[in-house]
Amino acid sequence: MKKILFVIFPCSLLAADVTAQITDPKATEVWQPVPRLVQTGQPTEAPSDAIRLFDGSNLNNFISSKDSSAAVWTLQKDGSITVAPGKGDIQTKQSFGDCQLHLEFKAPEIVKGEGQGRGNSGVFLQNRYEVQVLDCFQNSTYSNGQTASIYKQHIPLVNACKKPGEWQTYDILYTAPRFNQDGIKTASAYVTVLHNGVVVQNHVEIKGTTEYIGLPQNLAHGKGPIKLQDHGDLVSFRNIWIREL
Ligand code: MG
Repeated sequence: MKKILFVIFPCSLLAADVTAQITDPKATEVWQPVPRLVQTGQPTEAPSDAIRLFDGSNLNNFISSKDSSAAVWTLQKDGSITVAPGKGDIQTKQSFGDCQLHLEFKAPEIVKGEGQGRGNSGVFLQNRYEVQVLDCFQNSTYSNGQTASIYKQHIPLVNACKKPGEWQTYDILYTAPRFNQDGIKTASAYVTVLHNGVVVQNHVEIKGTTEYIGLPQNLAHGKGPIKLQDHGDLVSFRNIWIREL
């Protein structure tokens, strides 16, 4: 049987024949689906199909992570919000899976503390996976916990930090993990991060939750909120928008 199959379908010849048969360039054109047309603005402006999570006017799209009450971080006159130390993390009311997330952040201009104690906050994807926010401008800490690290999992490719007090951007492309009906992870999450327009995480695998102590956990979950961390430092955020993918 094996011998007969080989005679009829020798694989290398079959592949060569298929390639040889394509003489029309149209044969490899794909016309559907047509990608939607969206208007783009300045690099930091939200495209027309983005959900504006924070545009400077209010915190209506966020709640306190502690008790789901209204988010009470400090709304500033310049259209930003600043962590209210001790008030706790805040998170979006809406939950997300695969997404493109843009936000801008600023470490306090008056430098205080060192290492993990300087301008620490964080962006948690699906409420679990932290892209670290830290002031690593002339401030050293463990590499897998510095600015734009996937906390305790991936060191950023470069340090693209601006000075404290200057606005910085994160553009995050995120593919959520998949779990089967038995709660087993069947595909890891992946993330790409641009820090101030520079690729610092290039499609890296998220191994599970980004734990301060211990190893990543992989309990099954669905969509989750975007969470911003209160680590006790006066980090500010502005212009937060997201596109579901
Ligand atoms: Mg943090």
